Amino acid sequence: MTVRVSAQWWLTPVLVSVSLVGLPTPPAAAAPAYADNVVVIMVDGLRPDALKQAEVPTLDGLIKRGASTMKAQTVEPSLTLPAFASMMSGLPVDQHGVDWNEYDPPRGFIKSPTLFEIASFNGRKWGAAFLNKEKLLHVIKQDHQLLLNVCSINEQGCNAKKITGDVIDSYKTATEGKPALFVVQLADADAAGHDQGWMSKPYLKAVEEVDRAIGTLLKGFKDLGLYDRTTFIVTADHGGHAKTHGTSMAEDMTIPWIAAGPGIKAGYEIKRPVSLIDTAATIMRAFNITDYYVEWKSRPIEEIFVDRAGTPTPSGAAKPNR
Ligand SMILES: [Zn+2]
Repeated sequence: MTVRVSAQWWLTPVLVSVSLVGLPTPPAAAAPAYADNVVVIMVDGLRPDALKQAEVPTLDGLIKRGASTMKAQTVEPSLTLPAFASMMSGLPVDQHGVDWNEYDPPRGFIKSPTLFEIASFNGRKWGAAFLNKEKLLHVIKQDHQLLLNVCSINEQGCNAKKITGDVIDSYKTATEGKPALFVVQLADADAAGHDQGWMSKPYLKAVEEVDRAIGTLLKGFKDLGLYDRTTFIVTADHGGHAKTHGTSMAEDMTIPWIAAGPGIKAGYEIKRPVSLIDTAATIMRAFNITDYYVEWKSRPIEEIFVDRAGTPTPSGAAKPNR
């Protein structure tokens, strides 16, 4: 065994130098291929067309740095709790069973395993959930390996700014273990939509506040030295129309889906249809966790990832036949 290992050690630089021959520029050696951390931000009630009408420099930056679609679809009914359960379990609503949308403790927890359990089977034990609505606790099982923070939108001051600040503070003060998977829900835009109407001025202003808060979160990750090894996914649970949502109308069903991070193409527009359900498998793919088995309906969005078998595929370019 020792011989094999040492042989690999001296063979590896040889192979690397051979593979570099003929390339115009060597690929950046420092760029990690997979994420150590994934941060999923579910912006409650975010319509894709709001990103065009509001000033959202942070999300614009993520779209530029990553892969995205403005035509992703949520599940039916287009409501927060069923959608969150689908994102976390990789299953449609009729399979995970969380078809209600209020906090009702006697109903208990989702029966299907969620990302936190699936990821923890593989040694990535620490997760963190920052919830802006208490009802999401139906999907998050409290566990000593989970950093859990509930700051209800109904409480004074529980806005996106506070929650994203809490994400960074909790990471800094976590002594027993640092989370790898962060799930963050920000409800400001949804609250403004119900109050004043979707796409109204106050709604767009709330979207801008959420964008600023996400900007603070990204800066926090930079300051912690985690940014380059972190994949950020921003999506929504549903859109909205008038002062409501929950129907199968396009305004309620269509959501943005944005991912940026290690091994993800830059400035890439996703071509295949994307379901919110696909977020689960794509998170596992971003971590390079492959040795799990779970019956889900979630398919990783393969096309967002740089082809790791060969040279990085330039954004939008056709892959070579092989
Ligand atoms: Zn709502």
